[in-house]
Amino acid sequence: MSTKTMQSPDTHTTAALPVAVIGAGPVGLAAAAHLVRRGMAVQVFEAGDHVAAHLQGYGHVRLFSPWRYNIDHAARALLDAHGWNAPDGEVLPTAAEVVQHYLAPLARTAALAPHIRFQARVHAVTRAGFDKSRTAGRDAAPFLLRVSTPGGIEEHRARAVIDATGTWAQPNPIGIHGLPALGESENAGHIAYGMPDILGAARSRYAGRTVLVVGAGHSAAGNLLALATLAGQAPGTRIVWAVRGTYLRRLFGGGANDGLPARGQIGTRLRALVEAGQLDVRMGFGIRAIVRTPQGRLRIAAEDRSLPAIDGIDEIVAATGARPDLRIASELRLRLDPWLESTDALAPLIDPNEHSCGTVRPHGHRELTQPEPGFYAIGAKSYGRAPNFLMATGYEQARSVVAALAGDLAAADDVQLELPETGVCSVDFANQDKAAAATAGGCCGGPAKLDASACCALDETKKAEGKAGCGCTPAAPPVKARAPVAPAAPQACCG
Ligand SMILES: Cc1cc2nc3c(=O)[nH]c(=O)nc-3n(C[C@H](O)[C@H](O)[C@H](O)COP(=O)(O)OP(=O)(O)OC[C@H]3O[C@@H](n4cnc5c(N)ncnc54)[C@H](O)[C@@H]3O)c2cc1C
Repeated sequence: MSTKTMQSPDTHTTAALPVAVIGAGPVGLAAAAHLVRRGMAVQVFEAGDHVAAHLQGYGHVRLFSPWRYNIDHAARALLDAHGWNAPDGEVLPTAAEVVQHYLAPLARTAALAPHIRFQARVHAVTRAGFDKSRTAGRDAAPFLLRVSTPGGIEEHRARAVIDATGTWAQPNPIGIHGLPALGESENAGHIAYGMPDILGAARSRYAGRTVLVVGAGHSAAGNLLALATLAGQAPGTRIVWAVRGTYLRRLFGGGANDGLPARGQIGTRLRALVEAGQLDVRMGFGIRAIVRTPQGRLRIAAEDRSLPAIDGIDEIVAATGARPDLRIASELRLRLDPWLESTDALAPLIDPNEHSCGTVRPHGHRELTQPEPGFYAIGAKSYGRAPNFLMATGYEQARSVVAALAGDLAAADDVQLELPETGVCSVDFANQDKAAAATAGGCCGGPAKLDASACCALDETKKAEGKAGCGCTPAAPPVKARAPVAPAAPQACCG
């Protein structure tokens, strides 16, 4: 790549600059649609050479939310104005179909197309003329984005920045400690992260082989179901499933109680596979090391040395979640949750240590606001390492944040979000797992709150009445709970 530095035309007033949206995934494009609808200038930067590069990467996966949850309102209005043939709201699309029938046509609309740059990876966002430590005059300065393109490095200025880069490109490593397992990078040629196309393009890699799946979320379950189908077609395919935890009920999900039936069925089908003995399940198996044996196969060692190693593995599929790339905004002043790396105020609503109802209290610009005014992380990135993000959540975030940027606080505060629950509330864990019971904090649904204290509104109300929070947990305070987000203490003089 050329190192030629290009400069976007200088604009003198920050207010006249566009809002920069980083990432043309479903949530970034929704933000762009809301900006265009409000007549605000927008510039979208997308690292891939087409829209929704992450969704394209797992295009074969059938989503568990039907179309009606997957389409943003402002995006739909733009598409309708261009004579769009909307898909049936009750049908479950694949990820590729979401791109083909919704996001690609959206990006091609005359309103958006001129404002999207592809092959434009944002490496850094800062305040023009300011490093992180300088304060005086900072808030009036425009943002400066450094963008790598096929033509070289470019710098662009923006009045505000919406970071919708997701987390999918930074998969968590396999190792139990949050670090790569010993030998993980040396054996990278035998490891696929995420959801490879087991029944399609990657079929020959797995057919007739012994495959280890690592992870305990929906992606791991999807991989196991695909491998089980493959095993029925290709003799000699063996499936081993390594799970860090010791508690299967949570992994099987809410079944028929799940507000999204397709999501519930994933767990139900997985349970049937386990009960039928089709998977070699290793519980409590946190992975310490991956060793290549002289026979050319992999031996997987557990951190718990009393557990026998898993031998004879040909391929590993790691579905261990993902983490946000925090480097882009490291020169900005951000307040992130110390352990989820999510936007700080969201953490108590989405912490998988505390609940997993799949609901989240309606939230918007107030919870997403950062100490760096004008910078917002939305979409999957706003959740950091927490799972269970849904597109519908991101669309409401986009709507609220754009309304706030437009100065329409009434619309920005009027957050509405009704999400389907997973059907697995913390109380279910509490019945089976004492440690989970100790940390259960209740489901986080209920009405939107006007402040950003990040407590669960319905939970709070119920507990104040001496009842269980949204019916999931006892009224007693949890043993370990997050402290509500407190405003920063005023700074005193030094000395
Ligand atoms: C396998 C799987 C199945 C899912 N199923 C569902 C479902 O059924 N229903 C549902 O509601 N949700 C589902 N989700 C969750 C979630 O809705 C999706 O992850 C969704 O794609 C998140 O949208 P996003 O726009 O926030 O981020 P992404 O879709 O991850 O988009 C981010 C975009 O930013 C770009 N980008 C990244 N870094 C840069 C950079 N530095 N510069 C420029 N561009 C960059 C990427 O190329 C990408 O196009 C699923 C997730 C996964 C992984």
